[in-house]
Amino acid sequence: MSGNSVRMQAIRDVEAYVPPAAVFTESEEPGEIFGENVFSQTVMQKRLPKSVYKSVMATIEHGAKLDPLVADAVASAMKDWALEKGATHYAHVFYPLTGLTAEKHDSFFEPTGDGTALAEFAGKTLVQGEPDASSFPNGGLRNTFEARGYTGWDVTSPAYVLENPNGNTLCIPTVFVSMTGEALDHKTPLLRSQQAMGEHAVRILKLFGHTPGAVVSFCGPEQEYFLVDRHFFLARPDLMNAGRTLFGTKPPKGQEFDDHYFGAIPERVLGFMMDTERELFKLGIPAKTRHNEVAPGQFEIAPMFERGNIAADHQQLLMTTFKSIAKKHGMECLFHEKPFQGVNGSGKHVNFSLGNSQLGSLLVPGDTPHDNAQFLVFCAAVIRAVHKYAGLLRASVASATNDHRLGANEAPPAIISIFLGDQLADVFEQIAKGPATSSKGKGSMVIGVDTLPVLPTDPGDRNRTSPFAFTGNRFEFRAPGSMQTVSGPMVTINTIMADSLDYIATKLEADVAAGTDFDEAVQALLTEIITEHGAVVFNGDGYADAWPVEAEKRGLANLKTTLDALPELITPEALELFEKYHVFNHREMHSRYEIGLEQYALTIGVEARTTLEMGTTIVLPAAVRHQTEIALNIGALKGAGVETDIAPLTEVSAPIAELRSALAALKSALAEEVGHSALAEAEHAQKSLLPAMNAVRAAADSLEEIIADDLWPLPTYQELLFVL
Ligand code: ADP
Ligand code: MG
Repeated sequence: MSGNSVRMQAIRDVEAYVPPAAVFTESEEPGEIFGENVFSQTVMQKRLPKSVYKSVMATIEHGAKLDPLVADAVASAMKDWALEKGATHYAHVFYPLTGLTAEKHDSFFEPTGDGTALAEFAGKTLVQGEPDASSFPNGGLRNTFEARGYTGWDVTSPAYVLENPNGNTLCIPTVFVSMTGEALDHKTPLLRSQQAMGEHAVRILKLFGHTPGAVVSFCGPEQEYFLVDRHFFLARPDLMNAGRTLFGTKPPKGQEFDDHYFGAIPERVLGFMMDTERELFKLGIPAKTRHNEVAPGQFEIAPMFERGNIAADHQQLLMTTFKSIAKKHGMECLFHEKPFQGVNGSGKHVNFSLGNSQLGSLLVPGDTPHDNAQFLVFCAAVIRAVHKYAGLLRASVASATNDHRLGANEAPPAIISIFLGDQLADVFEQIAKGPATSSKGKGSMVIGVDTLPVLPTDPGDRNRTSPFAFTGNRFEFRAPGSMQTVSGPMVTINTIMADSLDYIATKLEADVAAGTDFDEAVQALLTEIITEHGAVVFNGDGYADAWPVEAEKRGLANLKTTLDALPELITPEALELFEKYHVFNHREMHSRYEIGLEQYALTIGVEARTTLEMGTTIVLPAAVRHQTEIALNIGALKGAGVETDIAPLTEVSAPIAELRSALAALKSALAEEVGHSALAEAEHAQKSLLPAMNAVRAAADSLEEIIADDLWPLPTYQELLFVL
């Protein structure tokens, strides 16, 4: 491999890389370290007075209001535990609308006045914090005169100690709200939506004769990511600033052989994975599956599913951990949805189910017709929710970065539909015509007394092209981007499920009260739902050209870009829905919409400025050097009386001219006067900046193909993707 000196040195360093030894000499049992740094239920049981423990557990398991009197006792036990773990500071950790994690550290130690310090941590400090939060996005929710934000302890998500070479910190997961109690974060609406959904799920379970405890949502996130060597990363301002390459031609060999997917994991990557898993285990994050993904340099980790809000906290912690451990191994972890043009991007599948420890997942087809009926009711609730609020689901995954991926034949299309699998689809088709009488598939069919067939419990078939697929005991939402928090999609799913479950419960309760036979009422309701909402069920190939045409006939929306999707957040129906279930009031919804636009414009703005800078100061000078060499060569040949052709000079001069004019156009697009609204900025980014950036890239990429390799200044796709 040739290349300029920077790139050559980087390659030599990569070749000489030796994994940190500690990872491999580890002798601990994963089981022993699991949850080591977590203030878990077991720790609480050991350290808290019995009555305090019981009170906290009532809040965690049954959603009871937290008794303020127990906070002091918990805080004191938590502090002692954290100090034993070497913590010197505590932090309220929250999840602002940047999509990142924020934390403010305070020392446990307070001076006593006699020259010594005492470790203090009162109940009120545990329960509430008051970070100066004026620089977090709030979409107009917070006036500057009330710039304070409040954090509040999420009792249901365990506190943990985060280790750092320079000292350990007790981290307390919290919500983040304005002085008026409006949500400025991702956790608040997640907790609210979970509560709403649980309440209506319980009503339905009662009709089926259960006396259930609180029902919650579960989330199992599958995280895809890329690893690149850090030498190359640091030589790519685009990766550093925008998280994706803004220049670069496809390597001669890409993913066409499918030789990376599920292949042997490179040694260095395996070292990284083992190291991350060890850290995650200590934090009580159940990392389970790891494998190579489709693209070279791409991998996946799937932790075991957990209660929605805990899964969301853990997911954020996982991303932070991956970033820092990758550095330790000389690599950079890329969570961007599309780091490389022409190479598969990354998603974060959100596996969703609902239930509790007593009943398990309510989306598991049971063994008896009675369970089946219950399963079909919950399934019908999903079908109705997804059909009715497809636009909101689409909006929940809308971002400038995810736009590169959705609908690009590697990720589900932007059309939201449901995959049920042959068997379940068949059952619902029969239900649409009246009672289902048989169940397709293997084995003999048992027709239940209530006319519903018994369903086998194995997952059925797989369809990778569907945005919302039933996979045996859960639904898998495949449209979320790899970089986003799972909270956004989870809030939407919970809320639209609350609406469906409420609708169903209300109907069935009324029917039962009116003396209708319960089985018949269920049957009629299922028929009604599948008749009205069956259009959203699609078991075919979501990547096929025929699908958008067919979807349009079915009246399903195809919201291709973020700017098409975001207005879904502020339709009258959306505002009413979120208000009704106390997840967002109108102001909060408008603020989310505004922030969506702001983030979109900011992302593209950074990309555009980076493109301009790299094009002007890195690509163009290299091209000019190459051009000069050719010109000198032609001059020399002519001087020596050798007949020569100027074609090579023309060949490089044309794209140079194109690059110059594209850079000039981008520069003026960036300088354009744009109205002051978030919408105007976002539209300008989409309509002016994106096309101008693409033109720069087209010219630069054609230069990469002809410029002498030793003059090319940027690490190539081949180096980024294959040198690990
Ligand atoms: P696949 O690649 O086939 O989709 P993976 O094993 O990679 O499967 O990921 C499956 C994810 O779904 C895991 O995070 C798993 O914990 C999660 N999951 C399994 N059952 C449930 C459930 N009932 N509710 C939510 N998530 C679940
Ligand atoms: Mg999956």
